[in-house]
Amino acid sequence: MHFDIHPNPAPLPEADRVEAFKALGFGTLFTDHMVVIRWTEGRGWHSAQITARAPFPLDPATSVLHYAQEIFEGMKAYRQPGNRIVLFRPDENAGRFNASARRMAMPELPEEVFLDAVQKLVAQDAVWVPEGEGSLYLRPFMFASEAFLGVRPAREYIFCVIASPVGPYFKGGEKAVTIWASQAYTRAATGGTGAAKCGGNYAASLIAQAEASAHGCDQVVFLDAAERRWVEELGGMNVFFVFKDGSVITPPLTGTILPGITRKSLMQLASDAGTAIEERPYAFDQWQADAASGHLVEAFACGTAAVVAGIGKVRHDGGEFLIGDGQTGPVTRRLREALVSLQRGQSNDPYGWVRTIG
Ligand SMILES: *Cc1c(COP(=O)(O)O)cnc(C)c1O
Repeated sequence: MHFDIHPNPAPLPEADRVEAFKALGFGTLFTDHMVVIRWTEGRGWHSAQITARAPFPLDPATSVLHYAQEIFEGMKAYRQPGNRIVLFRPDENAGRFNASARRMAMPELPEEVFLDAVQKLVAQDAVWVPEGEGSLYLRPFMFASEAFLGVRPAREYIFCVIASPVGPYFKGGEKAVTIWASQAYTRAATGGTGAAKCGGNYAASLIAQAEASAHGCDQVVFLDAAERRWVEELGGMNVFFVFKDGSVITPPLTGTILPGITRKSLMQLASDAGTAIEERPYAFDQWQADAASGHLVEAFACGTAAVVAGIGKVRHDGGEFLIGDGQTGPVTRRLREALVSLQRGQSNDPYGWVRTIG
């Protein structure tokens, strides 16, 4: 697909960018450009362009504003030694984006167009890829752009990619997080949209996240909707458990859990390092009992934005419990290091996960 390129006539001055890079947060600073591709029924994908990042004029009847037909992805570009800019497993994001599109009755975007769009934006905004610990967070997304109030899949969509230079996701850095186990709210039910990366899942999780904050917790962990018993995942991260014998488990992908690329990658890295790793349901009361007995020694959450975060403490309606000594444990740290060093080009990449831009 051909992309028209309209460079931003007024990019952020270099001095301002350098200043902003001194204190990178998460998702507050944006690059000079964006990708926009349109889809119209009967015509398919068309009008691909890279243009100055700017607001969309939206009719008040635009269907995404009413029925939330929207999906997204989250991925990062890293600046490796020697100024090589790379993406991590972008083909996985392209494939998952289309799985989300199918679930939300939206048109699929050919994987090569998704990959081309992301790579072209990173190349255009290459000066925005931070060095060292930072990275350029990429947010491809698609929404129903038809102005229409009837309830049916829209006949027009916009695919867009924006980019944001980011530092660490959690302000505490490597410090283990405290999580809130919500009894009142669930994230996803069988047959629902839990496995799709859609904005609606996040909208539904915000009240539980607010409940977590009110209890002094960083994040919320959701239990299954049917029995309120099985641990599923956090609002935007998958979860792993490490036992005293060194074995590791993570809940299986049964349709209510988002199939994380970090999850999949860590499973491979752990398995190749000789760790016994298994996808197995884990009950919340068992988690509590295992933490108390010392059978469970570590737990961690993972996702592109936060990478790997140790879970030190769990709070719930009936009290709280500590995992291990409440700090990020050695297995968690080793797995994080294995993943990060591969992404940063500090270790070799036997899997071909890292893709150079250009
Ligand atoms: C994006 C996301 C994850 C993590 O997926 P990664 O591909 O590892 O970034 C986990 N859970 C939910 C609900 C998500 O939306």
